[in-house]
Amino acid sequence: MRRSFKFLVRPTAKQAVALTACLDDHRALYNGALEHRRSAYSQAGVTIRYGDQSVELKEIRAVDPGGQGRWSFSSQQTTLRRLDKAFAAFFRRFKAGDKPGYPRFKGRGWFDTVEWPRDGDGCRWDSQPHYPSATYVRLQGIGHVRVHQHRPIRGQVKTISIKREGARWYVVLSCDDVPTQPLPQTGAVVGLDMGVASLVTTSDGDHLVNPRHLETSAEHLSVAQQDLARKKRGSKRRRKAVVRVAALHAKIRRQRLDGAHKAALGLARGYDVIVHEALRIANMTKAPTPKPDGAGGHLPNGAAAKSGLSKSILDAGWGVFLRILGHKAESAGRQLIAVDPRNTSRTCARCGHCAKENRPSQARFRCTACGHQAHADVNAAVNILRAGLALRQGVQVA
Ligand SMILES: [Zn+2]
Repeated sequence: MRRSFKFLVRPTAKQAVALTACLDDHRALYNGALEHRRSAYSQAGVTIRYGDQSVELKEIRAVDPGGQGRWSFSSQQTTLRRLDKAFAAFFRRFKAGDKPGYPRFKGRGWFDTVEWPRDGDGCRWDSQPHYPSATYVRLQGIGHVRVHQHRPIRGQVKTISIKREGARWYVVLSCDDVPTQPLPQTGAVVGLDMGVASLVTTSDGDHLVNPRHLETSAEHLSVAQQDLARKKRGSKRRRKAVVRVAALHAKIRRQRLDGAHKAALGLARGYDVIVHEALRIANMTKAPTPKPDGAGGHLPNGAAAKSGLSKSILDAGWGVFLRILGHKAESAGRQLIAVDPRNTSRTCARCGHCAKENRPSQARFRCTACGHQAHADVNAAVNILRAGLALRQGVQVA
């Protein structure tokens, strides 16, 4: 099993300067490589590939020993690969008939991670093991940086990344061969409905992760973004506004993770089998297409700036929750089943009658055939559980 561990790092003032330089240089490398690919193609019709850029990197390092040459060759290669992946994704989507955006230059604040692909290659986890009270990570060009390791890691450290979030720095370890810690069987099964009022509602009627605090943060973020949009480019006020927006994004991420961790842990402890909707997050976050009103203008389609923002935050919340639930379920030896959510919200969990009219409001379910009444999300969660158990039985029979 593979999983990642994230810890706050406490760089000295000098190390913080070096970390910033490291991030800036990797960003410059990314942007330079992007520019090269772009101009080579537009001016000469030549396609530049990762292999070409990796060879070129050697030359760049040789002529700039105090700049790009300071850092790990491997972390720089990883940055070039990252650009290569962005291009691969662009071409894949283009061929599939989508309208993907061309890979973009990364501005300050849009490039926050440097990854070293192997422990021991330009980086070393637990680099000062003789210090009893603190953990350090050694990063080439930066030194031994103190890590606030708030819990033990398990498995084998593979990649090491450094990540900037607002004013904080984190180290992210991706570990392989993490042993699972199976939990005792409970004999209980559960279905999960992903909703708006509660992020998750269970077939047992529990409402988990109230996204209201996320909504509040979304409002603050919306105000901060509008404020940022009014600031003049390159001004000091604008830089401050950027920091504020980044800090709010970071806060939302933390809130999301907190709620998701708690809910996922509770579910993994309580149930042997957990069934959830297969969400297509990418589709869900797409803005609704505007409805033409026949007079050249457009009718409002419910995608107002604010609701759009809180919706995308909610969608991301589901994605994060499912990812964490996946990790916890795997680690605890629980079975996680994804089912097609079609019709689960309009089908009666008691008699199976499926009609739009069964759902008079967002929160209520009332079957027009048998009169069964329930909280709409609980009714849906029961249907999801049933679909998952049917799927599971089918698999076991086959
Ligand atoms: Zn019914």
